[in-house]
Amino acid sequence: MFRIRKRRRKRASSVTKHYLEHQEAARALIHARLVHWNQFYNFQYKRVAIRNQRRCWGSCTSLRNLNFSYRILFLPPHLQDYIIVHELCHLEELNHGENFWNLVAQEIPTYKAHIQELRAIEQKGISVYIREIQQHSGA
Ligand SMILES: [Zn+2]
Repeated sequence: MFRIRKRRRKRASSVTKHYLEHQEAARALIHARLVHWNQFYNFQYKRVAIRNQRRCWGSCTSLRNLNFSYRILFLPPHLQDYIIVHELCHLEELNHGENFWNLVAQEIPTYKAHIQELRAIEQKGISVYIREIQQHSGA
């Protein structure tokens, strides 16, 4: 029991450190891409938060706040853009109905392939994926 808890705590602190190290770069990237894609959609949003969230890449609240995982930073650009467009479109459609996907497809017609790619990364484990990326880039 004790050993497991101890190991967990150690792991949690290294995860937090990784987040703090990359949070600002993630914020800059996400803001730039939001501004870029919103030239087309022109939706109104309020606060943008960069979080250390594991369960999802991004979310949109009914109060028009956008949340993104800092882990987006480590994805290839086309997947970053898909996630950003996905959350932008939730400002108009807070569901995954047909209208929502039509909005996404206006700017990212190949979104279905991107969803598959994201699933593959999630299955491998996002932390494993990030570690591999960082090893390849020497970061
Ligand atoms: Zn969604």
